Amino acid sequence: MILNQDEIELEQRDCYGKLKTITLSWSRLSDWFVCKQRVKLYHTGGRSSTINTRNFLCGKVVDLVMRETLDNASRDSSGRIQSIDRDDMMGRLPDVWERCLVPEKGRLLQWNGKDVKADQKKILNQAKAATSSLHPILVDKVVGRRVIPEFRPATMPAFGVPLPDGGVGYIRLFLGIDLLIQEEEDGDRLGEWGIWDLKATAYDSYIPKTLWQLVFYDLAYQALTGKYAKTHGLITPLLDKKIHSIVVDDEHRDQMASWIVQYCHSVWAGEEDFVSPDKEKEACFGCPTRNACPKIVHPLTKDEQGLTWARFDTKRPGLMKR
Ligand code: SF4
Repeated sequence: MILNQDEIELEQRDCYGKLKTITLSWSRLSDWFVCKQRVKLYHTGGRSSTINTRNFLCGKVVDLVMRETLDNASRDSSGRIQSIDRDDMMGRLPDVWERCLVPEKGRLLQWNGKDVKADQKKILNQAKAATSSLHPILVDKVVGRRVIPEFRPATMPAFGVPLPDGGVGYIRLFLGIDLLIQEEEDGDRLGEWGIWDLKATAYDSYIPKTLWQLVFYDLAYQALTGKYAKTHGLITPLLDKKIHSIVVDDEHRDQMASWIVQYCHSVWAGEEDFVSPDKEKEACFGCPTRNACPKIVHPLTKDEQGLTWARFDTKRPGLMKR
């Protein structure tokens, strides 16, 4: 079990004080990189009440299969995984798939095209291929080691942000690691652990965009445990290159810390600099705050007959009657 020497002290710190409460996740920070307007709309309640999770379904299924397989794998008396049974892993897929077809509250599954069955089959086949390819990777990486799948501490780590008056404001970093692997056992109680994230993507181009996630988790892990992780990487079972291992150094950590500080100062300053530059057009497609975004939906106007109209900037701009 991971225990932090400073745990009690962290628990007792006032993370929030007089400042606006912030629990910052990687996905929120990455939204902030994509479009600051989007984050501003999140803060002001502009997010759609239902989110289409169709594009995340394959990843969710494979992640759940991995988690349940590892939770049920045989372990020795000191908690090291002894083996991972391929049939057991593949056999979990149908049940996990059925469960994932029921969307959680606030989520919906909007299928592509008119043939729902064909779209579902396509995603299920992708999940089967990813699970099948993931099995030997897991055998190689975790057998003989201690692992914690879906590591989410009950209390998220506190992170100090310097304030202009010389003080420190504390926020919490949201930590949710797909796979924490003990790489080495050393003198202390903790040992050396690796942060690994599973990505069931079929696109190589996605990888560079998400490598910074590992640096974010590295800082959060250090804030929680007092030491940095030893290894960091992505497991990508659907790509030719199945392991993307990176070396996180102090320069990466400084850069990530500086982004986190910028984010917090913006929120505490009232999000005044959360503006949306023009180049973010591509990000608008499928944006969860699209319906509240002034760039897309312009203020309603009334015509001389008293009808209310709204103008939408889409690929085919035009007027739509409300
Ligand atoms: S619709 Fe586009 S500009 Fe508006 S918040 Fe979303 S990404 Fe930003």
